[in-house]
Amino acid sequence: MSGTELITSIAAMRDVARQAKRRGTIALVPTMGALHDGHLSLVRAARAACDTIVVSIFVNPTQFGPNEDYDRYPRTLDADLELLEREHVGSVFLPCREEMYPAGNAGTCVEVPQIGDRLDGRLRVGHFRGVATVVAKLFHITLPDVAFFGQKDAAQVAVLRAMVRDLNFPLRLVICPTVREPDGLAMSSRNRYLTATERARSLVLYQALSEAQREYHRAVYDARELQNTMKRVMGSTPSTRIEYIEVVDPDTLLPIEDVSNGALLAIAARVGETRLIDNVLLPPTRNNPCE
Ligand code: AMP
Repeated sequence: MSGTELITSIAAMRDVARQAKRRGTIALVPTMGALHDGHLSLVRAARAACDTIVVSIFVNPTQFGPNEDYDRYPRTLDADLELLEREHVGSVFLPCREEMYPAGNAGTCVEVPQIGDRLDGRLRVGHFRGVATVVAKLFHITLPDVAFFGQKDAAQVAVLRAMVRDLNFPLRLVICPTVREPDGLAMSSRNRYLTATERARSLVLYQALSEAQREYHRAVYDARELQNTMKRVMGSTPSTRIEYIEVVDPDTLLPIEDVSNGALLAIAARVGETRLIDNVLLPPTRNNPCE
């Protein structure tokens, strides 16, 4: 690869980061690979903000449950590296499992209590412990001034904001909007699991969120009503198993009753065997007295 340095060891990544730090600011974009335009939007935002971009590609075993898709998670390294080279990414950090977890799963981990047990954390027990732990490790290894994450994973955003605040990481998080396919489906590495029929059915998540969003813009501020709307739309498509449909505070992930101060609408559902998540942020209304 010309121009893009591929780094597999923590020691080498540290050296590169230390040198880059002397020259300017470092942006980190953590990914699990199988890159798509959602990931690339983070890379472009990073390039606009910082002098050096580090993209990590690591399918993190500790955030997958025993019956989840770690083994069959899409791995498309050659295509990923080509995309990153085209985006003029300076360094790609590509550690192996043993490099990141020499003690296996028995090492020290980062727990974000309460927030980490809500939404996906409630259904995927231990998931956010794995996410917080690997992201904390990546922060220590790559020394970013700014780290870029997607709004697509809204619960992950809440967990990482809490971790950065509570553990005083000296960096800023930038959250980029969800990138969608032209028909509205949120881009995801897992979309490639979907059959053609499932792909068509998966649109229902965004349709449900959009319908609730339209109601909100028609001044429906009762969370229960918005939740019922999402349930109704989701119920209209066969073979989707709802895991959660929630109206919550985007920072605490706790349910709220009145959405006039803003809210996160979030859905997780299985379409066939594939678990999909999507969300929409409702901004505070103009008559919010706190504004
Ligand atoms: P992943 O490789 O799925 O762990 O995602 C790596 C980063 O890309 C995370 O911060 C995700 O939130 C973000 N991301 C994934 N899909 C999208 C999307 N459709 N739009 C924006 N960001 C995304």
